[in-house]
Amino acid sequence: MKYNVNDKGFYGDFGGAFIPEMMYQNIKELKEKYLDIMASDSFKNEFADLLKNYVGRPSPLYFAKRLSEHYNAKIYIKREDLNHTGSHKINNTIGQILIARHLGKKRIIAETGAGQHGVATATVCALFGIKCVVYMGAVDVKRQMPNVLRMKMLGADVIPAESGNKTLKDATNEALRDWINNPIDTHYIIGSVVGPHPYPDMVARLQSVISEEIKWQLKEQTGSESPDYVLACVGGGSNAAGAFYHFLDNDKVKLIGSEAAGLGADTKETAATLATGTPGVLHSSLTMLMQTDDGQIIEPYSISAGLDYPGIGPLHSHLFKTRRASYYSVTDKEALDAAFKLTKLEGIIPALESAHAFALLEQLKFKPNNVVVMNLSGRGDKDMQTYIDQMTNEQTK
Ligand SMILES: *Cc1c(COP(=O)(O)O)cnc(C)c1O
Repeated sequence: MKYNVNDKGFYGDFGGAFIPEMMYQNIKELKEKYLDIMASDSFKNEFADLLKNYVGRPSPLYFAKRLSEHYNAKIYIKREDLNHTGSHKINNTIGQILIARHLGKKRIIAETGAGQHGVATATVCALFGIKCVVYMGAVDVKRQMPNVLRMKMLGADVIPAESGNKTLKDATNEALRDWINNPIDTHYIIGSVVGPHPYPDMVARLQSVISEEIKWQLKEQTGSESPDYVLACVGGGSNAAGAFYHFLDNDKVKLIGSEAAGLGADTKETAATLATGTPGVLHSSLTMLMQTDDGQIIEPYSISAGLDYPGIGPLHSHLFKTRRASYYSVTDKEALDAAFKLTKLEGIIPALESAHAFALLEQLKFKPNNVVVMNLSGRGDKDMQTYIDQMTNEQTK
């Protein structure tokens, strides 16, 4: 695997574990044990059973007839939106809680921005009756009350982070502080392919069930297991990593990610990390990130809370640099248009994050017999207020 992480935790120039000494023991334990645990029969059986009977996998791979006619290509949609809790995030949290149990951990912590990862974590903690503490920026707690209430109903303690801008970055700092103080009994569930090694690799492997299924589902429906294109949106990059994973070494499959450009990649209101960023260390990983000349993180902006992140997982920085994958910027407006188009043509209301992937269909040129797989990372229920506002605006124009 040319694109696999090496034993130091690097993908080419990117990755690693730039951690404070006080976190060394926690990371060392995880690094030494995660591969053996994931390769054990007991983990594999439990993971497969829960993905099937609790999450509802395999998620369908659906041939989208009207969308295909519209864009003159053969478009298949991977329905991660149909998973329990409404997105791909549950694949990762199920896997990590099983790993935590194998490690003998009794308590789970997590950070969350919009609350989606917090809900996915609180869900699996309820499932196993394990104590759960979720750190969330105080500003986000106010903005995302429905998810805060979901987490509380699921039994989690939600702790508002009052430092800095009181958003995701500050919640992450609080979670790291907690982990340093509780190294023996606590596992930290990170929500994307970000953070110190081994998290990016561990999360990518847990999400790789997406491309594992795409291969056999495509073979069943078309006779070939490799598509011409795989398209996915990229925040930290976990749904894209999962959708790309089993195609990384097959150069015939074009891999394309979409970043959230916000009001435009050439404006200050953007989250397009690869279009505007430079290499640096964020959350203990050397990767591409949005920073000032003197290395301060630039606050990102996107209409979509799940893509509003100033960095990107080191795997994607590597795929970008080696040109194995291409990344395009998609604005708020383009994503909204794509969400309405998918809804009207296929009767599927996507998450705003996922709509960024569908907006790529406008930017790319296909041949009529090209097979294009779209990863639909989540459903749109949580974004209804944004969609309603958009419809109201259109009417009053
Ligand atoms: C969180 C989220 C994302 C962004 O996270 P990745 O790690 O980049 O996948 C994308 N889509 C949905 C529906 C999400 O909830």
